Amino acid sequence: MLTKNNIIKDLKTILPRENVLTELEERYAYSQDATNLPDIKNLADAVVFVETIQEVQNVVRLARKYKTPVICRGAGTNVVGACAAEHGGIILNFSRMNKILELNRQNMTARVQPGVVVGVLQQMAENVGLYYPPDPSNLAVSTMGGSIAQSSGGARTFKYGSTKDYIIDLKVVMADGEILQTGANTIKNATGYNLSSLFVGSEGTLGIVVEATVKLIPKPEDKRVLMAYFDKIEDSVAAVDSIIEQRVFPTTIDFMDQNAIQTVEKFYPSNLLTDKEAALVIEVDGFKNAVEYQSEIIKSILHSANASAIQCSTNEEEYNKIWTARRSSMGACAKLKPNVTTDDVIVPRENLAKLVIGIREICEKYNLAVCMVGHVGDGSVHPQIPIDYRDTDEYHRFKLAKSEIYDLTARLDGILSGEHGIGSLKRDYIHLVVNNTALDYMRTIKKTFDPDNILNPYKIF
Ligand SMILES: Cc1cc2nc3c(=O)[nH]c(=O)nc-3n(C[C@H](O)[C@H](O)[C@H](O)COP(=O)(O)OP(=O)(O)OC[C@H]3O[C@@H](n4cnc5c(N)ncnc54)[C@H](O)[C@@H]3O)c2cc1C
Repeated sequence: MLTKNNIIKDLKTILPRENVLTELEERYAYSQDATNLPDIKNLADAVVFVETIQEVQNVVRLARKYKTPVICRGAGTNVVGACAAEHGGIILNFSRMNKILELNRQNMTARVQPGVVVGVLQQMAENVGLYYPPDPSNLAVSTMGGSIAQSSGGARTFKYGSTKDYIIDLKVVMADGEILQTGANTIKNATGYNLSSLFVGSEGTLGIVVEATVKLIPKPEDKRVLMAYFDKIEDSVAAVDSIIEQRVFPTTIDFMDQNAIQTVEKFYPSNLLTDKEAALVIEVDGFKNAVEYQSEIIKSILHSANASAIQCSTNEEEYNKIWTARRSSMGACAKLKPNVTTDDVIVPRENLAKLVIGIREICEKYNLAVCMVGHVGDGSVHPQIPIDYRDTDEYHRFKLAKSEIYDLTARLDGILSGEHGIGSLKRDYIHLVVNNTALDYMRTIKKTFDPDNILNPYKIF
C-alpha cells in the first residue's frame, strides 16, 4: 500500500495532476479492454494520460524504480486481454498523443504519434491521393500504437499485407527509459537486424512505441465490392480457391456464415439475404477499367462455383452499406447475450474448409451459438461466440470448445492468431503451435529488453 501511495505521489510530481487518475471507478474502467475477461482480479493502481515522449520516459523510469508494471493503452479494443492490468501497475493512455506529425507525398510516408486512430490516418492519406491499407474492422477507433503492438490485419491483408508490412521506422521508449530508433525513413533497409519487426506484434512487452513512420502506397483509382451468396457453406469455401486459381487478385475475400448474416440483418438491417447458408464479400480495386474487368471475371467464377445470388456495389453508398454490414457482425453478435467473444485462428488456405466445418461441429457439440466471419482469402476465421459469463455451465462448455478449436487449428498446421495477438487470453495455448525452443528465445528476448519485467508483464507466454 505504501509503495502504491508513493507511486501515485511521484506520478503527480512528474505529470500534470489532472492527467493522473486514481479513483476506483477510473481504475476499474481502464483495467479491462474489449475482451471483457470474466476473471479480472486486480485493477491498475493509476491511469495516466501522457502528452510527450519525455513524459513517457519519466513514467517508465518511475515504474522501473518501483518495479511496477506499465501497460500501454490505445483505444482498448484488442480482444485478447492485452491491456488487462492483471498485476496492477500504471496504465499509459495514449489518446492525447494523437497527431499525424508528417504526411510526406514525395517519400510516400507518414510519421505518426501512437494515439492516431487508424481510420483517421487512412482518411488523411486518401485526401492527398495516398493509401494506408491495414484496416482492422474497428478502424474507426483503434489506434496506430495498438495496431502496431498487435500486428493488426484486416480484410485487405489478402492483397496488401498487414501492419507489419508498412512499418519502416519506430521510435521506442525502452524499459530503462532510453529511446531506441529501429529503422530509417527509407523504403528499403538491410542495415543490421530488422528491429522494427521485433516490436510489431510484441503487445507492449518489449518497448513503448512513441512514434512510427509508415509506408503509404498510391490510392487505387476505383473500388467495388461484391457480395456472393451460397446455399451450401462448402461451396462458399470452394469458391475462394476457384477465385485464387484464376489468378485474379481481389483486395479482400471475406466470409459470413448464415448465423452472422441473420444476426447482422436482425440488428442492423442491410438487405442481406438471410436464407443463404454463407456469403463471400469480395472487393476489387485498381484503375477503373481494371476494376470492371476483374468484377466480370469474378462474377463468372462465382456463378460457376454455385453462387446463388450476387449483389454488386454500383456507387459509394452501396459499397459502404455492404462493408458496414460485414463490419457490424461483432457488434450485432454482442446483442445476443451479455458478452461476446471472438477469435482469429488461421490455417494454410488448403485447410480452410476443414477449419470452418470443424469449428461449426465443435460449437454444435458444446451447444454454443456461433456467428462465423473471417478473412478467408488469408485462411483466417473469426468464430464469434455470444456468451453469458454468469452462466457457469455455458462458460465451462465455452472453454472446452475453445481448447478443441485450438487443437484443431494446430492439427491443420495453423496458428492461434493471424492478427489479434495472444495477450493473456491465449497464452496457455501458445505451446500448441510454437515450440519450446522458439518460446525460450522469445523469453530471452523479453529478458534482454525488459530485465525487470515491467512492460506489460506475463502477456503472450
Ligand atoms: C469489433 C472489433 C473488430 C476488430 N476487427 C479486427 C480486424 O479486422 N483485424 C484485426 O487485426 N484486429 C481487429 N480487432 C482487434 C483490434 O482492432 C486490434 O487489436 C487493435 O488494433 C487494437 O488497437 P487499440 O488501439 O484498441 O489497442 P489496445 O487494445 O489499446 O492495445 C493493444 C495492445 O497494444 C499495446 N499498445 C498500445 N499502444 C502501445 C504503444 N504505443 N506502444 C506499445 N504497445 C502499445 C497495449 O499494451 C496492448 O498490448 C477488432 C476488435 C474489435 C473490438
